[in-house]
Parts: sequence; structure tokens; C-alpha cells
Amino acid sequence: MRSHVLTALLLLCMSAAYAQSTILHCGTLIDGIANTPRKNVSVIIAGNQISAIKEGFVEGAPQDKIIDLSKQTVTPGWMDMHVHLDGELTKEAFMEEFTMNPADYAFQSVAFSERTLMAGFTTVRDLGGGYGVNISLRNAINKGLVKGPRVFTAGKAISTTGGHADPTNGYRRDLMGDPGPDVGVVNGPDECRKAIRQAYKNGSDLIKIMATGGVLDLAKDGSGAQFTEEELKAIVETAKDYGMRVAAHAHGAEGIKRAIRAGVTSIEHGTFIDDEGMELAKKYGTWYVPTIIAGRSVADSAKIPGFYPAVITPKALSIGPKLQATFAKAYKAGVKIAFGTDAGVYAHGKNWLEFTYMVESGMPAMEAIKAATMQAADLLGMKDKLGSITVGKLADIVAVDGDPLQDIQTMGKVSFVMKDGLVFKNTTANLPTVKND
Ligand SMILES: [Zn+2]
Repeated sequence: MRSHVLTALLLLCMSAAYAQSTILHCGTLIDGIANTPRKNVSVIIAGNQISAIKEGFVEGAPQDKIIDLSKQTVTPGWMDMHVHLDGELTKEAFMEEFTMNPADYAFQSVAFSERTLMAGFTTVRDLGGGYGVNISLRNAINKGLVKGPRVFTAGKAISTTGGHADPTNGYRRDLMGDPGPDVGVVNGPDECRKAIRQAYKNGSDLIKIMATGGVLDLAKDGSGAQFTEEELKAIVETAKDYGMRVAAHAHGAEGIKRAIRAGVTSIEHGTFIDDEGMELAKKYGTWYVPTIIAGRSVADSAKIPGFYPAVITPKALSIGPKLQATFAKAYKAGVKIAFGTDAGVYAHGKNWLEFTYMVESGMPAMEAIKAATMQAADLLGMKDKLGSITVGKLADIVAVDGDPLQDIQTMGKVSFVMKDGLVFKNTTANLPTVKND
């Protein structure tokens, strides 16, 4: 009996001393920091962390697991700073709020999360959904019950009465009611503070506000300012007190400037930002999250007769096509840019197309990749843990078949996804070459 205990102890000690590592043989490595890729590098992962990076293809200890990515380009896991994991826009979506139950949203969010992760996005910022589904989804992913990216979620977006995230816009009067701070509809600084505190209590990681009108709600105006500066200041101050950052949806120039001056962390879309707005963004260090793909997608859908309710079509046609040009201007002006797509407004899993639009608009591929890795990690306040392939960081790693610096379409050819040290996808053509499994 005693010898059994000793043997078990001995085995335990040995396994601690000789724990299995995973070694990635990376043909080309873009680490998220350097401006040029490295060739033939081994990235060693112990547990959920990157434990070493070595020149050449090292073999490691006999029990180590080797994954051959020698024909791939390896990058840090990609990070989309603007998604909505609980929904996906179709022609029918405008009826869904009357027909779908919270559980329906929850089940579809499971599928959308997996699609997002398999497309190479290991971290997302979820900027608003209903019924607390995105908060429960984050928790389920963290528990390992659902396959999906790391989720930092805003819970429900905060809006003014009649604003872009007032859920009853366009309803008939008796259905409209008077939604309040408990569902993120606020008026005046006091209600703003209450809604932020409630969001914190509900489990939100950050705050999303609708600083101006928007395209996809049943209201006429798509770009006017919808919060006073006083309200915006109350929001940012309270969020700071509770350790949360603020993302501001904003299309119109005035709403953008008010939000920047109030101290929000990021401007989403930023469609009609003017020169003064860009200068302010630089002065305040405000991030810009472009969502070009969403703009293109809503403009395309608006050309299909009857796709949108009549009140939305003119907004989609006037705002959607402008986002790509806005991105090009902001990039040239030197505004800080983080990758974000508004996934859910278009089909989840196609997030990578944003890279192609960024490059098409004048941003070099390496910078577009950094916008979705190190820059995004910085925006989230997670740059010590995420965003690069560096010793000590969490092992979120993606590989594509080909060279994205030569052909950005390669970002659609994801063949390897690791999140938190676990392999979720490996469809490389160079399989099977795993030494030990
Ligand atoms: Zn959005």
C-alpha cells in the first residue's frame, strides 16, 4: 500500500518536472510586434502560456507534442473589437424581436461563437445584445461548455429615449411603453449613472453607448447626436469608477466630438468624422474601430427591394458606402485604429474580409494584422496578456495557408487555431506530422 503511494508521488513529481509542452514549428512567424516576419521559429507552449520562442525547429523532450506549421504563416490570434454574437441580420430579423425567445438567441449565439473562433478570431469585444445572452455566453465559453473566442461584452447597449438602442423604436404606442435604465434607456446624468452601475451588476465587462443615431433601428435619423455632453461625462466617469471602458457608436461629426471630449475609449464606425474630430481623437488618444464590412454589407442589402423596412433604406444607402473612405482618411491622419467589423450585421465567420478592405484602402497588410492583434489588445487594456506571440502571454495563435503579406485573401484560409493553449482547429495540409499525441 505504502509503495503505491510512493509510486504515485514519484509519478506526480516526474510529471511536474517533465510536463508535456506543445511545440509549434512555424515556417513564417508574424509575432504582432516586429515589422518583419521571422522564418523557421519554434513557439513553445506550456499550459495556456507561451513559455519559449526558439530559432529553428526544436524537438523538445520525448513527451512533447510537435505541430508542423512549417508551410504556414503563424500570427497571434485575431481580435475583433466589434461583434454582436447573439444575432445575425437577415430580411426576417426585423420580425424576430416578436417571435424569438431568449433561448433562441442563446442557441444561435453558440453557433456564431464557434464560427468566429474557427475563422481565427480568438478574442472579441461584444458590443451589445439582448436578454443578457452575451454575458451568459461569455461565462459558458469561459467554463469550456461552448467553443468560442474570449468574450469581453458590454451586455445591453445604452441609449437615450428614441435613440439607436431604444428597443421599442417604431412600435405602435401601446407596445412602445417607456423603457428605462434597467434596459439601458436613459435620460439625464442620473439615469446614465444608474444604467452603468446596473450594467456592472449584470456582469458587463465594458460599456457600449449609442452616441448618435444609427442605421438598423426603426427611427428616421442615422447620425444626429443623442446624448448631451453632461450625460456623456456622467457615463465615462461612472464607468471608470467601476473599472470599465466605454465604446461609443457614432456616425455624425457632432456626436463623435462630444464622445471624444467626454473621454470614451473608442469611436465605432465614425462615418462622418471631420478634420477637427480626427485631431481630437489624436489628442485624446481615442481609438477608431472602422467596421468597413458592415457599411458595405448594409449598403448592398439596401439595394435589394424590400430587404429593409422603409425607414432604414435611405440611412443604409447614405451611411454604409462612406465607411471605407472614412477609414482611409483616418488612417492617413494617424488616428489609432483597432480592427472591428460589426459581425452580426453581416454573416459571422466572414470577419476576415475586413482585412482585405483595410488593405484595399491603403493600410499595409502588416499594419492591418497589428490592428487585429497588438492594437486591439491595447484597446481592451489586455496588452500584457494578449496580442502578440511573446514569452509569458496567453497562447492564442492562428495560422493561415500562404503569405498574407503577399496576398491578403490568405486571411480567409485559416488552418490552425489555438486558444488558451488548446488546439481548436488543425486542418493543415502538412498533417499528420505530430510526433506524439
Ligand atoms: Zn454594432
